[in-house]
Amino acid sequence: MELRFYNSYSRQIEAFQPIEPGKVRMYHCGPTVYQRPHIGNYRAFLFADLLRRVLEGYGYEVTQVMNLTDVGHLLNDADEGEDKLEAQARKDKVDPWQIVETVSRAFFQDLDALGVIPAHHYPCASDHISEMVAIIEVLIEKGHAYRVGDNVYFDVSTFSRYGQLSGNKVEDLVAGLRLEINEEKRHPADFALWKSDPAHIMKWDTVFGEHGFPGWHIECSAMAEKYLGKHFDIHTGGEDNVFPHHECEIAQSEAANEQAFVNLWMHTRFLQVDGGKMSKSLGNVYSLDDLVARGFSPWDYRFLVLRGHYRTQVNFTWEILRGAKESRAKLIDWRSRLRAAMRSGGGVDTPATIDAVTAAHEVFDAAIADDLNTPEAIAALFTLRNKLVQVGEAGSRTADAAIALLDHADSILGLFEPAAEVNVDSGALSDDQVEALIAERAEVRAAKNWARADEIRDALQTAGIVLEDTASGVHWHRG
Ligand code: AMP
Ligand code: ZN
Repeated sequence: MELRFYNSYSRQIEAFQPIEPGKVRMYHCGPTVYQRPHIGNYRAFLFADLLRRVLEGYGYEVTQVMNLTDVGHLLNDADEGEDKLEAQARKDKVDPWQIVETVSRAFFQDLDALGVIPAHHYPCASDHISEMVAIIEVLIEKGHAYRVGDNVYFDVSTFSRYGQLSGNKVEDLVAGLRLEINEEKRHPADFALWKSDPAHIMKWDTVFGEHGFPGWHIECSAMAEKYLGKHFDIHTGGEDNVFPHHECEIAQSEAANEQAFVNLWMHTRFLQVDGGKMSKSLGNVYSLDDLVARGFSPWDYRFLVLRGHYRTQVNFTWEILRGAKESRAKLIDWRSRLRAAMRSGGGVDTPATIDAVTAAHEVFDAAIADDLNTPEAIAALFTLRNKLVQVGEAGSRTADAAIALLDHADSILGLFEPAAEVNVDSGALSDDQVEALIAERAEVRAAKNWARADEIRDALQTAGIVLEDTASGVHWHRG
């Protein structure tokens, strides 16, 4: 089935065509590591993971890059103002590099907890200063950028496609007074490539002067080019990245390299919390830890995100998260019943049940191919579940096919948390982990590995899980 994606640049759904047959190179704007990313940021990162899984599911060899912004991202995404990292460092009275380290570590832990497949490269902006300087020098040489003292600006009047991605017109930007007045700029819409500030802590001595640091946009142009080349397939970010960030990236890269930069631009809508913007004053800027502290698995949050299409707004409330958890638990329970049906072999196989599984598989794949319609794909799973439940216990052929569909759905969406090692001293096991251990116990029993089976039974017991071996398979509940 042909993959079709919405391209923010052309504003159309397009058939996906990689630049190089069989290979996909993609770049995602990653976190600014001044505060632990909130659940909204993870919506954008889960979208990147979904793309990776889908493309690999289609057999593409994917090279995936997600950057970490550790310098140059100023408050309000603007050209003037304090660096987000330095502002945070001042507040916490610590060195900004220390914040970079702490937040980056938390970020990678969160990605792992969410079941995100690691990207191939996670470059940090501060490690790529020379690459940025090299592009800026080319831009100056080609007349697209100009120096004012130790600062360097991009001259938007030299790049006719400026505004194409966002739909912004340079004149409107000025008229709308969305730009701060800066006497140095030739045109108010020009943007900074390099800034100088002796008071900046994170600064570099370069051809532009002693106390410089990069603009936020040039960082992504430089890192993308280094790891993916001058022209690559896909670039993603949250909807707020369209302007100015991605608009400026296109201008810089295309003006410097005199060729197309990215074929497909994809943007995910924002996650809302309590129906609005997350805000510190409302106390609803949640981290993944806040969810875990309330008894949710990060995988419940992942499921909440996937239940919405990436181009629609998704709302987060505790109630909605509870709904996502319950709904995911139904899939977990269904998988366990199907496994039990496989073992018992006593259920019903009819052409209708087998056809229902085949149809669900087709609907699932068609939905994913249609611009990653994850809510429709998930709905196909529930439609099948409801149909089969009406028939009674599935026969082993039906169960086998339905399990294969769930495994396929899991590889694309990430539905089932993998089992932890059996070392449950903590006594805390998620439903997924219990399921996985029960499945493993059935397998090792079949292989007459009694020692391991007993070990698992003991481990489950320690975790307060009660097993009942019945004719229709193993049922469990929390004791
Ligand atoms: P930042 O750390 O601000 O650089 O943002 C990192 C990524 O998270 C960017 O791609 C943003 O577009 C994205 N992002 C920020 N807030 C949200 C949100 N509420 N929902 C979805 N994505 C977001
Ligand atoms: Zn970026």
